[in-house]
Amino acid sequence: MAKNRKCIKSILALLVILLVVLIILRKMDMYKNPQSVKDLLTTEDETIISDNADEPDAMSVFMCSSLSEKNIDRIVGVSWQENTPVKLEELSYVNVTYWGFDDTEHIGEMIVHEKLAQEVIDIFKELYEAKFPIEKIKLIDEYDADDNLSMADNNSYAFCSREVTGKKGKFSNHSYGIAIDINPVQNPYVKGDIVLPEEGNNYLNREDIRKGMIIKGDMCYNAFKSRGWTWGGEWKSLKDYQHFEKEIDFK
Ligand SMILES: [Zn+2]
Repeated sequence: MAKNRKCIKSILALLVILLVVLIILRKMDMYKNPQSVKDLLTTEDETIISDNADEPDAMSVFMCSSLSEKNIDRIVGVSWQENTPVKLEELSYVNVTYWGFDDTEHIGEMIVHEKLAQEVIDIFKELYEAKFPIEKIKLIDEYDADDNLSMADNNSYAFCSREVTGKKGKFSNHSYGIAIDINPVQNPYVKGDIVLPEEGNNYLNREDIRKGMIIKGDMCYNAFKSRGWTWGGEWKSLKDYQHFEKEIDFK
């Protein structure tokens, strides 16, 4: 009997060891084969993905939808306030695939005015196909809607209900979801001695073209300008190299 019990104990111990080994192997496998981008999006966000079957790269995602309850919860009281000049129903949630500074593909999320959503997707498809490098595309709500924090982190974003930089009481076009800032560190806001973000001081020489910079006539500039957007790098009184905006008919 004692021998039998010992034998059962040994078998049980062996099974436990086997189970632990299996769990470790499974973890290693998951690490080697991470979930596809689509799986990640569908499981984490319950978003409907309209992937482009005609695109050669099946991993790329370009889609837009109205704001889900979850996204409304994320932005109300943060980037969207009671006095925001657009209604939540007028905003679209957009996912785009982009090439990061690490030369790999990432999926960004943006909120833009619904009337520009498809156009923004078309623009970011062009940027993606040309491998224009963008460091980060996150909602500004990830930075508590603080433009300075977002800029310092080199984040690109569109919607944020806020005043025009340097103009108190005037809503920026970001407040309508009709303006987009791209790579703010490489493309700073410059007005006299003011350079925002501070890290942008290294990029004041616009002749010294480096990764992520937007230069007149380059593919990023053309993607926006050919669709009627204005570039802040061409303004006279100040330069806002990161900024593109498009006037739309709100009626
Ligand atoms: Zn801007």
